[in-house]
Amino acid sequence: MKLLLGDPLSSLKGIGPKRQDTLTSNGLQTISDLLYYFPRRYLDRSLTEQIILSQGQTVTLVGNIIDSYLAHGKTSRLIVGFRTKNNERINLVFFKGANFFQKQLTKNLNLVITGRLEYFKGFQIVHPDFEILDPESDSKDSENLLHVGRIVPLYPSNESLKREGLDSRGFRRIIGQILESKLDIPEVLPKKIITKRKLLPRSEALRQIHFPDSLESWEHACQRLKYEEFFFFQLLLLYKMNLRRQIQRELWPLPKSESYNKLVSNLPFQLTTDQLNAIESIKKYTSSDRPMACLLQGDVGSGKTLTALSIAFHYTDNNIQVVFLAPTEILARQHYYTILKYLGNLPFLNVELLLGGEPKKIRADKLYRFKNGETLIAIGTHSLFQEDIQFKDLGLVIIDEQHKFGVEQRENIRSKGKNPDILAMTATPIPRTLCLTLYGDLEMVVMRNKPAGRQAIDTRWFFEDKKPGIYNSIRKYIEQGRQCYIVYPLVEESEKLDLNSCISSFEDLRLNVFPDLKLGLLHGKMKNLEKSKVMDDFKKGHIHILVTTTVVEVGVDVPNATVLVVEHADRFGLSQLHQLRGRVGRGHHKSFCILLTNKNVSSDAKDRLTALCETEDGFALSEIDLKIRGPGELLGLRQSGLPEFKIANIQEDDQLLKEAREDALQFGEPGSLEKNEIRNRFQEGRILFTN
Ligand code: ADP
Ligand code: MG
Repeated sequence: MKLLLGDPLSSLKGIGPKRQDTLTSNGLQTISDLLYYFPRRYLDRSLTEQIILSQGQTVTLVGNIIDSYLAHGKTSRLIVGFRTKNNERINLVFFKGANFFQKQLTKNLNLVITGRLEYFKGFQIVHPDFEILDPESDSKDSENLLHVGRIVPLYPSNESLKREGLDSRGFRRIIGQILESKLDIPEVLPKKIITKRKLLPRSEALRQIHFPDSLESWEHACQRLKYEEFFFFQLLLLYKMNLRRQIQRELWPLPKSESYNKLVSNLPFQLTTDQLNAIESIKKYTSSDRPMACLLQGDVGSGKTLTALSIAFHYTDNNIQVVFLAPTEILARQHYYTILKYLGNLPFLNVELLLGGEPKKIRADKLYRFKNGETLIAIGTHSLFQEDIQFKDLGLVIIDEQHKFGVEQRENIRSKGKNPDILAMTATPIPRTLCLTLYGDLEMVVMRNKPAGRQAIDTRWFFEDKKPGIYNSIRKYIEQGRQCYIVYPLVEESEKLDLNSCISSFEDLRLNVFPDLKLGLLHGKMKNLEKSKVMDDFKKGHIHILVTTTVVEVGVDVPNATVLVVEHADRFGLSQLHQLRGRVGRGHHKSFCILLTNKNVSSDAKDRLTALCETEDGFALSEIDLKIRGPGELLGLRQSGLPEFKIANIQEDDQLLKEAREDALQFGEPGSLEKNEIRNRFQEGRILFTN
């Protein structure tokens, strides 16, 4: 029977219901899924053909086990006698796991071994890489040819897969079976492109990615499969873009906003040129009858909140609702109070803050006002995603710090309106080309400059032995009326330890260093109510020094705080440090950012810290970051909402990405392409901001 790519895995020999379940729960359902389950790395197990073995040579040999014994000397070890096809004896030596290997490597077992030959009372290999071959077959057998005598693929696996015998060897077996069967692998790329870009045909590429004949053919296969991935990604972008362009927006162009004009005349300062330009551009993008998706990039402290609010008023003035989404409750609260402050003596505008864990009655009332349209601006965090939340007429979704949200979350909130416009904001600049190729028709608006009157932040890097002097300076600035942050790193892997060190440092500072000052502690494990109390106290100036983890990383705005000390600064990423630094330099006073590390820091960290001391320009820093770490890290790939590619790499393969985009535009004709075909290749959820 002929296999088809879309067939379920149960049509394969050796895949019963149990294995099938396990594969399904690991995201592998069809023949095609398995073919696109690429090896994580390869071993060169081309068989050593020489008859005469020599010392120092790395060899791959097939043979069987003749004996094994534990040798006790200075160090005890397991010695397994291995006989090659040429009747040569090689001792396989195991210092570690002797008992385990003794049980596993029993007499007569057929093995393939790889390792470096040494000579010590005969040939020996210490801790060889080995694999047990099927007992009935020898190396000529096609089954064994999957595992030896060639470049052999190693597959990603996990506990559940291994329990079903799906380790590298298991995968090799089923994937080998597929490739040997009469399987039709149709070409999916247009012929013109294959010729133009000199790509391997799909069937050949899939063969070579699993069982490469040579390094060269493996490279060709990679190239082709990466291209394919980018191409379909671009096609889907185009497809979705077209769909979106077919959707009508109801209110356009946006009428003039009274409230906006009032806001501007009430502000104690002028909007910056960048803010004004950004507002104009965004308004321009909303002047068509198609929904707008806009990414507002503005460096930390450039005043994005006010820009967004200015836009929001254009909707609310027409009774269209706006959602303002923030990544943390601290930030949501801050936005809420900022808006109330800006609103000042503006006419009544119903702004509502929705937080998690509110009393049922209060929440129900708020939801009621969302639903009947009374509330015009709804501010909140993930709390706004819940199913029971509905709006009467949601027209604009503002997403602050958009990189903190997943794609699904953004899609979720959009689905609460008919075709709401999206205004996403970020302080993490994404290079324009990358943005275009990844987000398709997302409009980009950039604000580079900060409000006038800000002084440069003095950034310095010190070793920890300078702490006493730094504490003296902090005291001096606090005596002048300023406030200070001291930030500790907190990473997932060592969360508990990190938290403990933050708390114990807080105690130490409070009792021994600044007993006469008021210190506050703020970290993510505190209850929301406690957090907002501490934040309030800090805002009001009742707390002099806020000891904290990265919960203050994004958005927090306390202009009177002018000193930021970052402990273990080498443990932070560059954009994170830049974000943190943005907590100071928000008012008229001179601000300082002190980076502390011990004397041994990695060279990457050295590069980051030096860059940070040299420039305050977030755009320049992101370029540097891109060089040091790559875009995944820069954007925090998993959280960034950027598509995750199986084999392609947005940074390393940027040339290929450009080519794929060009070709998709030229040959793609997304309208004519089978919708499902595209979708199969690139799941819907991975695309940002499109319908
Ligand atoms: P970010 O872009 O980092 O989100 P914010 O919106 O929090 O920045 O603004 C930073 C600070 O700058 C706030 O205190 C805000 O009130 C202030 N601000 C915003 N616009 C202006 C302006 N045009 N002139 C002076 N200060 C401004
Ligand atoms: Mg902000």
